Amino acid sequence: MKFLFDSKEFEEQYHYDGKDLGAVYEKDQTTFKVWAPTAKAVQLCTYPDGSNGTCLQEYSMEKQEQGVWCACVDGDLEGTYYTYRIDIDGTIRETQDIYGKACGVNGNRSMVVDLEKTNPDGWDGDSFDRQGQTAPAIYELHIKDFSSDPCSGITKEHRGKYLAFTEAGTTLNGEGEFATCLSYIKDLGISHIHLLPTFDFASVDESKPLENQFNWGYDPENYNVPEGGYATDASDGHVRIKEFKQMVQAIHNAGMGVVMDVVYNHTYEGDSAFQRTVPGYYYRFWEDGTWSDGSACGNDTASERYMFRKFMIESVCYWAEEYHIDGFRFDLMGLHDVTTMNEIRKALDSLPGGRDILVYGEPWSGDRTAMRSDCVPALKKNVDKLNERIAIFNDDTRDAIKGSVFKEKEAGYINGDNELGAQIPSCVLAWCDGLGGYMPKCPGQTITYVSAHDNFTLWDKLNYTLFEKPDFYKKEEEVLKLNRMAAGMVMTSLGIPFFQAGEEFGRTKNGDENSFKTESAINQLDWTRAAEYRDLIEYYKGLLTIRKHFRALTTKEREIIERFSFLDTNLQETVAFRIQGIEAEGDWWKELFVVYHNTDKKEELELPEGSWNLLCDGKNCVPEGLEACGNTIILNEKSVMILGRK
Ligand code: CA
Repeated sequence: MKFLFDSKEFEEQYHYDGKDLGAVYEKDQTTFKVWAPTAKAVQLCTYPDGSNGTCLQEYSMEKQEQGVWCACVDGDLEGTYYTYRIDIDGTIRETQDIYGKACGVNGNRSMVVDLEKTNPDGWDGDSFDRQGQTAPAIYELHIKDFSSDPCSGITKEHRGKYLAFTEAGTTLNGEGEFATCLSYIKDLGISHIHLLPTFDFASVDESKPLENQFNWGYDPENYNVPEGGYATDASDGHVRIKEFKQMVQAIHNAGMGVVMDVVYNHTYEGDSAFQRTVPGYYYRFWEDGTWSDGSACGNDTASERYMFRKFMIESVCYWAEEYHIDGFRFDLMGLHDVTTMNEIRKALDSLPGGRDILVYGEPWSGDRTAMRSDCVPALKKNVDKLNERIAIFNDDTRDAIKGSVFKEKEAGYINGDNELGAQIPSCVLAWCDGLGGYMPKCPGQTITYVSAHDNFTLWDKLNYTLFEKPDFYKKEEEVLKLNRMAAGMVMTSLGIPFFQAGEEFGRTKNGDENSFKTESAINQLDWTRAAEYRDLIEYYKGLLTIRKHFRALTTKEREIIERFSFLDTNLQETVAFRIQGIEAEGDWWKELFVVYHNTDKKEELELPEGSWNLLCDGKNCVPEGLEACGNTIILNEKSVMILGRK
């Protein structure tokens, strides 16, 4: 089968370019089209309910050109659930529609939907100034983590749901003092909220909303439908769509964009809608017929095959257009081929405002893959073959600053491994110096970060490297110092800064390294802790403000690295550099002088010529300037010092 599907003949005979796969709804008729070139017969089955009851009616679908089967059903089918029964060599498998735009509870049946009906009030006027985001900064958030905490100030029935985002003016315990949830994030200074998987995934049983279930959601079921577990009612296919849109609208109204974490590289299980529709086509297999498992989740999809590439492109564009999504983060992007990623970029670019939709991903895979050998995988080493507006998570920066994500005790530059100091200038330059053995085209191709949902939180990692038996809940000044140092380095480096929600208030998961299905009590944002760590939050806000008003740090073009010059300070373990500004509109300083001071003692440093203002002393960050400096400054222990010159 593998060789048949990889042959030019098969592709020529069966590729389908129409944009009408799935159910196309009109008031007086609905047209169903499914691509199933290896099927002997296909039946369309309609149901009155999303999960219960027997088939209302069966329709034989007619075979058309290019392997497409079609049925046109008269009448208003809005809200009708449906499946396909696909006969492959006498074996009949029932499945939902891979192109389905709505579905019933748990996603086993698709639903015909009039999308107009799902638009919240004001949706036509919903907008976000993508182009105006000259200093992008990304905040990685799980929908349930955001508002599960009973202290979050969110009404009980909205906690953990899409609608929690629509509650404005929430405060800790509703006491009116410390802002929480969207009101809190709005003031932080980030540009985009990146949501962990929000398409329909399989690991949460949507039929049991009262059970306290949790999963990150990296187990896709229906790619073009929002997850039902975050809706107030998963049994009515309309509700999740409308509430998802209300969430997007609320985030846009708060002045931020929405990034979706998309997981096209594998499906929840091999026995998926894809496999039931065209067995063997959508996945990779080894020559002996065994499943390729590049995702380490049991299977990996074949982006290099015509109809899956087309599926990915159309799916991404569908979310951008129908749901007004402003960015996409590709899980295990290294399992996709470079051509597919570049085609996705091109397709997004063709949409209104599409050029400013963010695209970035993980430039690695979970395991080896049976990708066709003439394809180029979107791995870190191939970053130069990706469009310059496709960015990669930079694991070299992540690990150089604070140590390996896999070995809990292994330190990075800030917590004890001084040899890694040699890599720090490359981190600052977003590895555009080529010293990592790969060549990003420009700083805009790098996501600069030290924390994400995977692995330890920054707080937990720092604790592990500092203490034999850490107490993660203790407010330890030594850890705070390193936390500030890590953030200071990320925010004074090139690339797009990214951080896990709560990094800015010392988020802990009590040392849990892989909390993908850990209870909410450990995963959720602890809003009481946020209030306790507000000094750290203010420090992050200060750093984000400095970036906003010094465009040389946020410029995506390659030439900008020429404006960075590293100085020899004669202080061991210290990295110091000047950044000549580009004097963009809104810039507050002509030049910055940045020092990463990595020892446990205060030391004196002579400043470059000119009159400098101290903006950050490693503990306090005041973008307008803390104080004017003389010819020297005292470097604080374990600190990022930032100075500005008018
Ligand atoms: Ca689901």
